[in-house]
Amino acid sequence: MKFATKAIHAGQEPDPTTGAIMTPIYQTSTYVQAAPGDHKGYEYARTQNPTRTALETNLAALENGNFAYCFGSGMAATDSVARMLLPGDEVIATNDLYGGSYRIFTKVFARYGIKFIFTDLSDASNLKKHLNDKTKMIWVETPTNPMLNIIDIAEIKNQMGSSSPLLVVDNTFASPYLQNPLDLGADIIVHSATKYLGGHSDVVMGAVICKDAKIAEQIKFFQNSCGAVPGPHDVFLVLRGIKTLHVRMDRHCENGMKIANYLVNHPRVDRVYFPGLPTHPGHAVAAKQMKKFGGMMSFSLKGDNYNDALKVLTSTHLFSLAESLGGVESLIGHPASMTHASIPKEEREKTGVVDSLIRLSVGIEDADDLIKDLEQALAK
Ligand SMILES: *Cc1c(COP(=O)(O)O)cnc(C)c1O
Repeated sequence: MKFATKAIHAGQEPDPTTGAIMTPIYQTSTYVQAAPGDHKGYEYARTQNPTRTALETNLAALENGNFAYCFGSGMAATDSVARMLLPGDEVIATNDLYGGSYRIFTKVFARYGIKFIFTDLSDASNLKKHLNDKTKMIWVETPTNPMLNIIDIAEIKNQMGSSSPLLVVDNTFASPYLQNPLDLGADIIVHSATKYLGGHSDVVMGAVICKDAKIAEQIKFFQNSCGAVPGPHDVFLVLRGIKTLHVRMDRHCENGMKIANYLVNHPRVDRVYFPGLPTHPGHAVAAKQMKKFGGMMSFSLKGDNYNDALKVLTSTHLFSLAESLGGVESLIGHPASMTHASIPKEEREKTGVVDSLIRLSVGIEDADDLIKDLEQALAK
């Protein structure tokens, strides 16, 4: 089955009792048993819920995996994967990681004697410098936030050689429509379903997807033991969102390309970070491992002045000033003071997060209207 068909049908049969075409929201905490242990595969809703099973089956299909597990947030999904680590283990992670992932690694898991090494994995040869027999996990995010760096997933796998750490890819920015890391050699995929999968800025959820049954067994164990499961209504919203994922993503990508080309030619804009531009250092790898280039981008202003950026950020009408990304509506954000405020100025500027850097999550509105909105804001 091709992607669009899987998005709409995988995991979703008409309800056997009524024929309801939409998977019902099984708002129940428990299931009646005919005799002790004699049940229909569902015992208690932390462990199993039919609405959640539908979404998990769907997500496994979209990522070409065999198993998927849903969590109450993207961070809860990340948490469950990191729980596979033991004291003494080492993790090599990309240096411009999602802020929340950086926080859970350095402030939560580091306390249990797990060592995290952050390095620029957009140059895959950096991996070898840190790889040793304690390395148990490689953590990659591509494209990265907010600099839109591209990491060559297949090349990272190649650089790992015969060593066997788990390669984890946070696929939130690309979504399964644009990129399928398991096909490129990854062992585990993490998603914040809050973003493109849900797609309508109305739900917080996460997911873990894998092929290997032994990995799946551990993730399932943590999902049930630690209990960070999503409720059935939220699951329903993500199932519903995914039905239009491919259509939305096509428009996000189309609008993203138009806006990047507009910004590149604007006299006040200094640099544009968008993997769809041939001048982007990761363009060739993105063209190889992604179907299209997505709707996320960042740009800086000439003169790099915070007040200039502030003027733009508070002058757009269609782009709303907010954290998050991946919804149908366009958002604008200021990484230096919002998502990356906890990182010292010197550190963040090293990775390109300067005072005038502005991040866009380009929505699926009319591209001409979005460009007009940026035009009037940049004229202020
Ligand atoms: C938002 C995000 C997360 C965290 O997901 P939540 O659903 O907010 O917990 C993780 N990784 C990336 C890349 C994200 O954008």
